[in-house]
Amino acid sequence: MTHDRVADVVARLIRAAADATLLVDAGGTIRVSNATAAALFGWADGALVGRCVDELVPQALRPRHLERRVAFAGQARPRKMGPGLATHGLRRDGSTFAAEISLSPWDDGSVVVTVIDVTERTLEQQAVAASEERFRATFEQAAVGIAHVAPDGRFLRVNRKLCEIVGYERDELMRRSFQDITHVADLGADLGLMRQLVTGEIEHYAMEKRYLRRDGEPVWARLTASMLRRADGAPDYFIAVVEDIDERRRSDDALRRLRAEMEQMLALHVATQTAAAIAHDLNQPLNAVASYNEAALRMLKAGNPRPERLEHALQSASEQAQRAGRVVRELMQFLQKGETTTEAVDLNAVVREALAIIQANGFGGFEAHVHLAPRLRPVQANRMQVEKVLVNLLRNSVEAMREVGIATQRIRIDVLTADEKEMALVCVHDSGPGLDAAVARRLFEPFFTTKARGIGMGLAVSRALVEAQGGRLWYEAGSGPGATFRFTLPFAR
Ligand code: ADP
Repeated sequence: MTHDRVADVVARLIRAAADATLLVDAGGTIRVSNATAAALFGWADGALVGRCVDELVPQALRPRHLERRVAFAGQARPRKMGPGLATHGLRRDGSTFAAEISLSPWDDGSVVVTVIDVTERTLEQQAVAASEERFRATFEQAAVGIAHVAPDGRFLRVNRKLCEIVGYERDELMRRSFQDITHVADLGADLGLMRQLVTGEIEHYAMEKRYLRRDGEPVWARLTASMLRRADGAPDYFIAVVEDIDERRRSDDALRRLRAEMEQMLALHVATQTAAAIAHDLNQPLNAVASYNEAALRMLKAGNPRPERLEHALQSASEQAQRAGRVVRELMQFLQKGETTTEAVDLNAVVREALAIIQANGFGGFEAHVHLAPRLRPVQANRMQVEKVLVNLLRNSVEAMREVGIATQRIRIDVLTADEKEMALVCVHDSGPGLDAAVARRLFEPFFTTKARGIGMGLAVSRALVEAQGGRLWYEAGSGPGATFRFTLPFAR
């Protein structure tokens, strides 16, 4: 092939090339250009031929470009440039674009130039770099401690906050494993959960644990951990987020101590009050016993005891002594409330039982309207004590109704499930006189009674019993006529 023929083939190849391609001679003049190249630089097809290639380079880059062009002219090997600061193309309208340029030497110092617009690719790379930078900044400047931890526990990356929490310099921390800085008391639980993460049993976990600061002091933290896996599913690393909760834990502890102290003080206060009340309540029957005895003695000494008067004095003394005994018994039950043992109990059965007991004890003769919730879940309670509470409430109702001589004595007992509160609710409603606000206020006070022979411990004991089992007992004001008492008990789990 002749030289001209070869040149012609090259020119045709350039015109047919998919990428923007130019043939530039040793002097920098564009000899051949394809339509893609003309379009890329914003020129009409063929309009680049005869122009200096420097015109396709932004003004600021021209000196550098010239240097490179001259240097390359003598070389025999192809070269690729860009994308970079010095590789930009200039369009006819003055705009520029990031370019990747390939140079292939042709004869007589001429060069085949291929230009690719990489603006989009560069933008993508910049976006990736920016996103990585944002991630790095988020990791580094987060207000919580963050660490990436290798499956064996070594720290791979730690942020500034984590260093602060555990009091280590970053490089010191990086030489340690999380086991090194975990309080020994919390290590077992943490390792167990980690193992479950590795096996895939759980996807993440959170726990409150103690780390050991560099100075040896424990610091409470809330750890949330999850695991990143490689494409093949093998564990890659753990992501640990560590929140400093030391202050909160400390104030919780302080609060707990304070509450315990207060409860103790309250218990002491109650004990003192109760002791005073017992003294008062025991004094009364004991004084009565003493005076009945004195009366009986006087009669005997006088030598003319009238049998019926003597009998009355002794009978009364005995009743008063029994009353004193009841005070002591009630009190013992009140004080023993801490030792409650509970089991799953069918509340409906207890209601039936209590009704039977109250009849057997001579408090019957009333209409019982019983509405028991069918299929009620069992409650967690002490059967005997719940029974005692119900008997107390029923007896109070009967006594109140008898006191005022109500014609139709009606006691309605409902057992039903309280809304959403995971509690069974028992409601005892009677058709007695009800009670006024002044009495209602003091109902549950130990030794408060309006009855001549009352002791006033029934409701106090009942409330204490219900509360010891996790429930509540209260008088439902404004539900009259009659009186309504309600109590709740937690369902068995
Ligand atoms: P006691 O029965 O020994 O008086 P309680 O603590 O059981 O002791 O009751 C305290 C007081 O509450 C009673 O004296 C009574 O005045 C009032 N009370 C309790 N239940 C009822 C009721 N169902 N109707 C009216 N009053 C009641």
